[in-house]
Amino acid sequence: MLFYELCKCYNLLEKTRKKLEMVDILSNTLKNASSKEIGKISLLTLGKIHPDFIGIELMLAERMAIKALTMASGRSEKSVLKYLEEIGDLGETSQKLLKGKTQSSLLVFTQQEEKYEPEVLEIWNLLDSIAKMSGDGSSDRKIRTLSGLISRVQPLEARYIMRIVCGQLRLGVATQLLMEALSKAVTGSRENKHIIERAYNRCADISKVAETLYEEGLETVQKIDVQVFNPIKVMLAQRVSSSDELIERFGGKSALEYKYDGLRVQVHVKDRKVKLFSRRSEDITNQFPDVCKYILEALKEDNFIVEGEVVAYDYEKDKILPFQHISQRKRKHNIEQKMMEIPLRVFLFDALFFNGKSLLESNYIERRSSLHQIIEETKNIQFSHQTLVSSTDEIEAFFHQALEDNYEGIMGKSIDENSSYQAGTRGFSWVKYKADYVDNLSDSFDLVILGAEYGKGKRAGKYGTFLLGCFDIDEGVYRTFTRVATGFSDDELDSFYTILSSLKADKTKDVISSLNSSVWFEPKIVVEVSGAEITVSQKHTCAQNHLENPQNGLALRFPRFTGRIVEDKSPEEITSVEEILTIYLNQRNKIDVSNNV
Ligand code: ATP
Repeated sequence: MLFYELCKCYNLLEKTRKKLEMVDILSNTLKNASSKEIGKISLLTLGKIHPDFIGIELMLAERMAIKALTMASGRSEKSVLKYLEEIGDLGETSQKLLKGKTQSSLLVFTQQEEKYEPEVLEIWNLLDSIAKMSGDGSSDRKIRTLSGLISRVQPLEARYIMRIVCGQLRLGVATQLLMEALSKAVTGSRENKHIIERAYNRCADISKVAETLYEEGLETVQKIDVQVFNPIKVMLAQRVSSSDELIERFGGKSALEYKYDGLRVQVHVKDRKVKLFSRRSEDITNQFPDVCKYILEALKEDNFIVEGEVVAYDYEKDKILPFQHISQRKRKHNIEQKMMEIPLRVFLFDALFFNGKSLLESNYIERRSSLHQIIEETKNIQFSHQTLVSSTDEIEAFFHQALEDNYEGIMGKSIDENSSYQAGTRGFSWVKYKADYVDNLSDSFDLVILGAEYGKGKRAGKYGTFLLGCFDIDEGVYRTFTRVATGFSDDELDSFYTILSSLKADKTKDVISSLNSSVWFEPKIVVEVSGAEITVSQKHTCAQNHLENPQNGLALRFPRFTGRIVEDKSPEEITSVEEILTIYLNQRNKIDVSNNV
């Protein structure tokens, strides 16, 4: 397939935000891809060149892309920057400037130059080679290669190449929508998406799933299973706000575990080689050499996948340290030094692969027993505190013990026959019950920064108020939920200003807002915010069309930044409209009940 064909499709996608229309547009183009192309096309459409766990990212700094555009367009950097400022989008700016160039050079070169019509695979290979350039002078080489590329292709192609290299593709195509389009392209219906999704949740590799689908069909996709060193999409939990609700959800009996406030880690081991994956399926092995060593010391078996939470731990006082400590370990430099300063402990809570087969379909009790077969507890590797309960009194006792021991709450887990590991799903087979939720007037949400207003007085020259959004999984869009101005230290405001300034963008079509914002950003930075109550709002668009009056939305009252930038969630994994709606309905039921008492 010609890359130009794909770009025409991207261009059409940009013009609509109707989900079904987007699925149709995309699937019409995907139909024309070969089985060799479809994997790469799927990645490019998500703005990537490799799955996250491969760890090769393109993401050129914008200033490097500007340099490439300056060279390719033959203009001065000043003039490029002026256009960029006016237009506000690097892709569009490139298209415009290179179009001007193409027209003028056409007058000079008429027949000498052959038209350059690259195939998708050729572009993918070039982008891959740019991503892999490293070492001395690699920045210059990247700029030159990119500049050479965009000066040869059509302006429309340059638009999307520039967006892809800077991580700003912004087509509004999330993985969910892509999977629907793949389903439609191959089977004629969106309905088979769940088969594709099931496979994707087991290998976190959309290119592999798409290639299998095109080469061998849906039946083989159905057979894609867990493999060591391919991360599995993590299972997530819903919230409950009382022990009554917890026990009710599980029909009278449940397993409880402490809920550790750290980083989720999926541990893959084969031939005594260890790899660690984050909650976002990124390879984090190199950041935690100590954890790899602890795992090797604790293993009784080889060839397995287990899961747990890694926390910073004070071994002298025998107590968990707050989240801020572990978050300092998430770095790529000075790892050795930080390892000495911040010791870690891992609490394992699940086993997902063992004895050459997937355990995802096994129930909770079976998986937990496999975990004990695989690992021997050591000082650094422990199993999560766990108990089985059948009454609210037992739940309350365990819950209070967890809080006393400095943990943030408990997890309730189904012990049904069918309590399989639901990869990539946030269901009610796992629930979380945190101290925050007991007091109904405080709850925390992971929201993405969509826009900002400049501050006044002491905050002049920085952003003072932030417009935050949640994610609408069904529609693949962000919806506004609150504006937050409290909870920030001066230093935090400084650093938000720096980080966000490089993410300034036009409001994208995947942001549904009826509010204006002085500045809009790429939806990338996720922050944790606590709030007092969820109320009906005529301004915010969260849960619009789900309430009695479809015009109304939901908003968070008295929001406050908790100080936590959430790095282990992608913007698509933040608090969803569905979760907020559930919390709102729970909250309303409680008010109704207490009014009736
Ligand atoms: P929160 O923001 O409340 O920490 P989250 O949105 O990050 O939660 P949830 O699915 O809502 O993720 O809560 C489950 C998370 O809690 C898991 O992703 C895991 O990282 C962590 N966790 C801590 N202890 C446990 C445990 N015993 N079992 C499962 N998950 C645990």
